[in-house]
Amino acid sequence: MDIIHLLPDSVANQIAAGEVIQRPASCLKELVENSLDAQATRVQVIVRDAGRTLLQVIDDGVGMSEMDARLAFERHATSKISDAKDLFSLRTMGFRGEALASICAVAQVEMTTRRAEDETGTLIEIHGSDVVRQEVCSCPVGTNIKVSNLFFNVPVRRKFLKTDQTELRNLLTEFYHIVLVYPKVNFTFVHNDEIILELPAGTEKQRIEAVFGNPKRNVYTSAFVDIHTDTELVSIRGFVVKPEAATRKAEQYFFVNGRYMRHPYFLKAVQTAYSGMLTADYQPSFFIYFDIAPEAIDVNIHPTKTEIKFADEQTIFQILMASVREALGKFTLAPQIDFDTNGNIDIPLPQNITTSRPQVTHDPSYNPFHTRNTVYPDRTPKNWESLYEGMPTSRDLNISTSRPKDPVIPMADTAPLWQYGARYIVMPTEEGLLLINRHRAHIAVLYAQFMEQLGTNQGAMQQLLFPEILQLPQDEMVLVQTLLPDLRTIGFDLEQLSPDSYSIQGIPAQLANQSAVPVLQEIIRNVRERGADTRAEWREQIARSLAQSAAIPYGKTLTETEMRDLVQRLLALPDYRRLPDGKIIVSLLSNEEINKRF
Ligand code: ADP
Ligand code: MG
Repeated sequence: MDIIHLLPDSVANQIAAGEVIQRPASCLKELVENSLDAQATRVQVIVRDAGRTLLQVIDDGVGMSEMDARLAFERHATSKISDAKDLFSLRTMGFRGEALASICAVAQVEMTTRRAEDETGTLIEIHGSDVVRQEVCSCPVGTNIKVSNLFFNVPVRRKFLKTDQTELRNLLTEFYHIVLVYPKVNFTFVHNDEIILELPAGTEKQRIEAVFGNPKRNVYTSAFVDIHTDTELVSIRGFVVKPEAATRKAEQYFFVNGRYMRHPYFLKAVQTAYSGMLTADYQPSFFIYFDIAPEAIDVNIHPTKTEIKFADEQTIFQILMASVREALGKFTLAPQIDFDTNGNIDIPLPQNITTSRPQVTHDPSYNPFHTRNTVYPDRTPKNWESLYEGMPTSRDLNISTSRPKDPVIPMADTAPLWQYGARYIVMPTEEGLLLINRHRAHIAVLYAQFMEQLGTNQGAMQQLLFPEILQLPQDEMVLVQTLLPDLRTIGFDLEQLSPDSYSIQGIPAQLANQSAVPVLQEIIRNVRERGADTRAEWREQIARSLAQSAAIPYGKTLTETEMRDLVQRLLALPDYRRLPDGKIIVSLLSNEEINKRF
């Protein structure tokens, strides 16, 4: 029995019209969705030149009859709905019967297809909507469709394609959206004869890890927390990561009834659930699957749009937020530590740090003017005069004042300094009041110190009274192995204990009294998250993690000497204004601003 029929115009018009095929990625999406609608268990994608030259999809689905093979390329030909009301109970990916018609209008298409019940299959070749060949052929059950020279007859479209790199990325993005909802289907993706992804059938979690569990993407299911909520309105399940596994570039996916969707409002719900657990620029990865009655969502979805409207978004927002919060609550065993009475700390600190608060490591014999700055030897201050050189000026500080001249901010070791609140040091200068963020200042000073030690000499080590054990998953063991020489240089004493653990006997002196394990975990996390691939890059990450771990917490009061020492060391840095990540350390409240107030 032939199953494809033409939709009546009335129905066809109810479906939002739209350009279906805009780029190779949209073509790939339509083809793969067709394979899944045809119940394929194995889908192979073969791409050449990011889809410009070839986009081929091979499936082992139900195939088509000879008649259907021809009809499939007609506009509004679909086997999936026959009536307008079917639109409201859609459970297939495609339904418009537009995709193949649109594709064959702008490419050279060759398809072979066979149903299990047929002895022979059908080969059909169409160039720009003209059928150039249709014949009986022998082929496996399923459908093999080859789209060559996309937009061969639409030069404008061809011109609008981006670089192969970008188009390939678009192809993969589209591919991820689909493979994440079909973990039971086998997928492969080949580009220019190279296997880019090979995804065996498995569970959702296994699929997520197969796609994103690599150092570039950094999503590992070991950090997942399950969420699950069933209500009359909606059922929500999926995975969110523990707050400490948040990253700068997170993978955030919503799916509804087996379709990827973007939903900025629901994203807000997830972010709200994490509020207070993350630093500003860290984001949690999540994979959240909604199941909802098709009547409750707008099904008249534009094929290239991924935003979907729900009937009752506010209620779902609440349900989603509560669901994520609850899941996180279960797994956040230790309360978040907050040194800052104002409740917003800049850097997430290891959780068990309460037992050993970081100390200011102050060396009373330290004299900033005798220290050789080996990282930036040309900036090493030698005496008072040279210290003034390159001292901050209003221009350096990036603050506009109406003064035309460029005065130097004086700094004497008798200059008054005050600690203001829990966060700042205030220093009067010729230009106004210089506000120094104490915590950041300390990070900057320590960062420079650690970088120097990593580059040139051995950092001092503090022997631990009780050796600690660092247990790690396989991939992190490999990472630590890579970092080992640098970790030792900086003052960690660690030996491999077993295939999945290290014993730690010593810690860099600046971190004395701290627990070594969270400090090392922070290093691993930073190296992974920021994709440090070269030695220089991972050294930066080591230095940065250590600086953050060792820096004075906001709440602590410094002694006069500690404060002065910190300011002098800070101002001796070549860039004392900003942290490596761009956060500002100092800010000038200019005389002009002050005078204006009176
Ligand atoms: P739609 O998917 O919206 O129905 P398409 O133009 O994508 O429209 O496909 C038209 C029809 O061709 C489908 O309804 C289906 O019957 C048939 N078809 C397309 N691709 C396949 C495939 N890979 N396997 C089996 N049938 C297919
Ligand atoms: Mg389709």
